[in-house]
Amino acid sequence: MTTLTEVALVVRADRPPLRVIGEQAAPGLAVVAALDADDRYSGGWWLVHQASGWVLTSGATCAHCARRAAAELAAIDWTRPVGELTGDIWVQVAVTGNTPARAILRSCASAYTCEIPEGC
Ligand SMILES: [Zn+2]
Repeated sequence: MTTLTEVALVVRADRPPLRVIGEQAAPGLAVVAALDADDRYSGGWWLVHQASGWVLTSGATCAHCARRAAAELAAIDWTRPVGELTGDIWVQVAVTGNTPARAILRSCASAYTCEIPEGC
């Protein structure tokens, strides 16, 4: 069963956060609809730090790959405040390094063409 959660999504620093509903992917992580420059649904999905609205993914992916990346990142305690996370070298490596989560996100073709297994 999917658990939904509300996230104050920080899209741009010059605008207030947008409150969106996302899927709880791991404790402290949510998959939310990616937005375009006009705050409309772009057709993809982002992985975000729930407490801060920090978008962890550099680009939108399909929901399946966002969920898979969240599973790879679940060993990190994402329930910590964003300031603590950004100062943690393991978090920096997990988000920006050559890790399985990053490989999943990079290899996602797009929200429209990525191969999603049946029953996903
Ligand atoms: Zn994908």
